[in-house]
Amino acid sequence: RAKAEGRNTLRFFNPEMQAALMVKAALEADLRRALQEEQLVLHYQPQVDSAGRVTGAETLVRWQHPERGTISPAEFIPVAEATGMIRPLGHWVLECACRRLAMWARNEETAHFTLAVNVSASQLRCPDFVKDVLRTLESTGANPHRLKIELTESLLVDDVEGTINKMAALKAKGVGFSLDDFGTGYSSLAYLKRLPLDQLKIDRSFVSDALDDHNAAVIVNAIIMLGRSLGLEVIAEGVETEAHLDFLAQNGCQFYQGYFFSRPLIVEQFEALANTKLKESICAQSMECL
Ligand code: C2E
Ligand code: MG
Ligand code: MG
Ligand code: MG
Repeated sequence: RAKAEGRNTLRFFNPEMQAALMVKAALEADLRRALQEEQLVLHYQPQVDSAGRVTGAETLVRWQHPERGTISPAEFIPVAEATGMIRPLGHWVLECACRRLAMWARNEETAHFTLAVNVSASQLRCPDFVKDVLRTLESTGANPHRLKIELTESLLVDDVEGTINKMAALKAKGVGFSLDDFGTGYSSLAYLKRLPLDQLKIDRSFVSDALDDHNAAVIVNAIIMLGRSLGLEVIAEGVETEAHLDFLAQNGCQFYQGYFFSRPLIVEQFEALANTKLKESICAQSMECL
C-alpha cells in the first residue's frame, strides 16, 4: 500500500520495521521485569596464572527467562544498550560483583580473588558512572583493588579525554582496567599509551587461529610483547586446548581464561573449584609454566 501512496509520502514504518520494534519493546519490558524479579544471574569464569592457580574470575551475566530459558548476553546486552536498560542492568552487575568481593574478603581462602566486570561504552558514557562505582564500592565494602573493569576498544572512538578522566578517577581508588577483545577494534597505539590500563586481554579469535594461521600466531606474539613492554598484564581469552595454552605460555602470556580450564560457573561451583590448581597434572610435566 505504501507504494500507492506515492513517493512523497513519509513512511515511518513498514511491517518488518514494526515487527522488529515490537520485539525490541517486548524484550525491553521483559528485561525490566527480569531485573525486578531476579531472573538475571552472574556466572564466574575462572582466570588462572601460569602456575594454574585461580586468581579470580570474570563475571558474565545470564538471563534465566521463564519461557525462553537461558538467554546469552550477546543477545540481550545490545537491546539493553539500545533502550537505556544497560544502566540499571550494569548497576546490578556491579553491585553483585562488589557484594561477592566483600564476602570473599572475609575468608582467607578467597580473599585474594579479583573480579572482572564488563562495562560497555554506553555505561561509561553516563556522567554518573564514576560516582556509581565509587558509591557501590563504599556501600558494599568491597576492596577497589580487587575490582577490574573490562572495557572494549570501541570506547576509544569517541571522547578519549573523557574516558581517560573517568578511568583515572577510579584508578586513583585502586580499581583496575583491562582492555577486552584486544586487537579487534580500532586500536590506536597512541591511545593505548595514554590510557591508564592494567591489562590487555587478547581476543579469542587470535587465540583460536594461532595454531594453524601463521599471521594470527605472529599477532598473538606481538600483542604479548607490546603489553609486557608497556608494563601491562596480558591475559588470553578463549583458551580451549592444551595446545593453545602451550603456545601462549611459550610466547610469554601470563594469565589465561577459557574452556580448557573451566566454563563460566555458578558461584558455588566457582568457589568449589577455585582453590584447586587447575592444571596441576599438566604443570608437573611441563616446564614452561614455571
Ligand atoms: P567477553 O567479555 O569477551 O566475554 C567472553 C565470552 O567468551 C563469554 O561469552 C564467555 O562465556 C565466552 N568464552 C569464555 N571462554 C571461552 C572459550 O574457551 N571458548 C569460547 N568459544 N568462548 C569462551 P558470554 O558469556 O556469552 O558473553 C558475551 C559477551 O557479552 C561478553 O564478551 C561481554 O562483552 C558481554 N557481557 C557479558 N556479561 C556482561 C555484563 O555484565 N555487562 C556488559 N556490559 N556486557 C556483558
Ligand atoms: Mg569481558
Ligand atoms: Mg572478551
Ligand atoms: Mg572476545
